[in-house]
Amino acid sequence: MFSLHSKAFLEANIADFIIPSEKVAHVQRANTLEHALLVLTKSGYSSIPVLDPQFRLQGLISSSMITDSILGLEQIEFDQLDKKKVEEVMDTGFPTISLQTQFKKALKLLIDHPFLCVVDDEGLFEGIMTRRVILKQLNQNLHSAE
Ligand code: AMP
Repeated sequence: MFSLHSKAFLEANIADFIIPSEKVAHVQRANTLEHALLVLTKSGYSSIPVLDPQFRLQGLISSSMITDSILGLEQIEFDQLDKKKVEEVMDTGFPTISLQTQFKKALKLLIDHPFLCVVDDEGLFEGIMTRRVILKQLNQNLHSAE
């Protein structure tokens, strides 16, 4: 495909590395925290995207954000799980990329983020790019270069 010695890897196409939206576990912003915790636990992922009914990306939610939001002064308030909504707790301050983003820019962002959400011009969610996919490709290139 391309070698580590060529510029091709750094100039690769984002589209070749994304997990498409239909394969990404997600929740809706109006879902309860209880539902989000179930999806997170069942999927085994620590953080997943939050979408609106039109499939536009709204935020990210993780188990620790949920636990943190139901921490009372002396105990965890489990009864809040079916009262609070995902939109009250989700993170909205994270970088996103598009299919046009330069691959090397995405690579740099992946240093601080385990995955990046890919959106189109209208904010429609297209999928995610994960560290695992990139490391897998790097590993393959390394072995084929040897
Ligand atoms: P990985 O690089 O495969 O370990 O994935 C890094 C992170 O990306 C995971 O911890 C999840 O937060 C997220 N992730 C990976 N694959 C999926 C998926 N299919 N659905 C939702 N989130 C995912």
